[in-house]
Amino acid sequence: MTVRSVNPATEDVIEEFEPHSDVDVDQALAVAEERYASWRLTGFDERSRLMHAAADVLEDRKDNFAHRMTLEMGKPLKQAVAEAEKCAWVCRHYADHAEEYLKDETIGTDAKTSYVHNLPIGPVLAVMPWNFPFWQVFRFAAPALMAGNVGILKHASNVWRCALNIEDVFSEAGFPAGCFQTLLIGSDKVEQVIRDRRVRAATLTGSGPAGSSVASIAGDEIKPTLLELGGTDAFIVMPSADIEAAVETAVDGRTQNNGQSCIAAKRFFVHADIYDDFRTRFIENMSALKVGDPMQEDTQIGPLAMKAIRDDLAEQVKKSISCGAKPLIDTQSLPDTGYWFAPQILEDAPDSAPASYEEMFGPVASLWKVSNLSEAIARANDSEFGLGSAIFTSDKGEIEVAVRDLEAGSTFVNAKVASDPRLPFGGVKASGYGRELARDGILSFVNRKTVSIA
Ligand code: NAP
Repeated sequence: MTVRSVNPATEDVIEEFEPHSDVDVDQALAVAEERYASWRLTGFDERSRLMHAAADVLEDRKDNFAHRMTLEMGKPLKQAVAEAEKCAWVCRHYADHAEEYLKDETIGTDAKTSYVHNLPIGPVLAVMPWNFPFWQVFRFAAPALMAGNVGILKHASNVWRCALNIEDVFSEAGFPAGCFQTLLIGSDKVEQVIRDRRVRAATLTGSGPAGSSVASIAGDEIKPTLLELGGTDAFIVMPSADIEAAVETAVDGRTQNNGQSCIAAKRFFVHADIYDDFRTRFIENMSALKVGDPMQEDTQIGPLAMKAIRDDLAEQVKKSISCGAKPLIDTQSLPDTGYWFAPQILEDAPDSAPASYEEMFGPVASLWKVSNLSEAIARANDSEFGLGSAIFTSDKGEIEVAVRDLEAGSTFVNAKVASDPRLPFGGVKASGYGRELARDGILSFVNRKTVSIA
């Protein structure tokens, strides 16, 4: 069945693709297996040279790649350019640090010599989402290829030109054919790829149901997985915080990428002493955001990526309001064509409202007043998710307690949660398991071989 890329700002069909057949997939896996046999033996110098070349391609063609991201999924063009630049950064990071991250670790025992030696494991399947169509892929691919693995991408079905562009980056950089391949397949074909003996591991960034399916199939095949799933990150503001900075960061954190970010701050818990001040400024700043054509320089919020995402969000908001949440921003009229959604803040959503317990994938914030830090943390942890968390405070004791007690893969203090190639990234609870980026990321898909020489 033909797969279409649709521009979410205009609803125009941009491009149509014929998915790869089973024969194409089989051929790609054969190429991956063959390439792995030689790629695993290349030195770090060679891998590093090619990975820097990939970064050069990303930097040289960032405007072109950014334009395609915006066309296919609607993020503001400026943010798309920044995404391409960040991909170059992660390539350079691993080009420069992979050897050191993977160096032998000597461990004293009764043997003459004993150490851990990190070896690649083979072709790795990456099932990726559309929201950061380049970044999610590069944060997997850069460490995987530097470790000596080869990558196979199954990208989200609405961003297949981005997926093909990413394959081009690696071939233009000079990576041998088969080091990185894009499969144009739907999610119904993922099982057969995971079960294929030539595929040694899988990583998925996406929703819970997709993660659960991939992990179950891989578990059945005894193949390792890494899951980066959704989140409803908490953002706590305490009386000692710089309120202006907190509000600016809250708005940016909630609305970056049109609100479609796993690590976006989604639930805001603000101390009673500063609540009214924060609330007034939060409403002002969220209301002032410019919604419109994502290709325009001054646009802050573009359309949501797909009709289903927009409709699901509208339903979550409607249901939350009917449960008792108060909308704080007047509805603005938006064009009929395109998947638009204006920023909104929902106050005091009760526990029964989707705004309290579901991930809202769009520019909608949920706001509550809390009496103290314990209450804020208890409510933050009252979620099935545990991806990131943020607290604004200048009180050292509060920072210690937040770091100790927030159930999340990260706690950012006086800043929004953000991924950085130098820091491990990942979640706990239903937000997934395993870590990407930094040293942890490259160790995720290696054979940590124990060597003991008597
Ligand atoms: P999604 O529907 O789970 O799709 C993600 C990828 O999984 C796509 O390639 C999709 O393919 C594939 N897929 C869907 N169902 C599958 C199944 N049953 N078996 C195998 N593959 C399957 O997620 P999304 O709506 O695109 O992305 C949004 C979600 O991703 C949000 O929950 C967000 O929080 C999460 N996310 C997490 C992170 C993180 O780092 N933790 C980062 C970004 C996004 P098709 O497109 O062909 O269906």
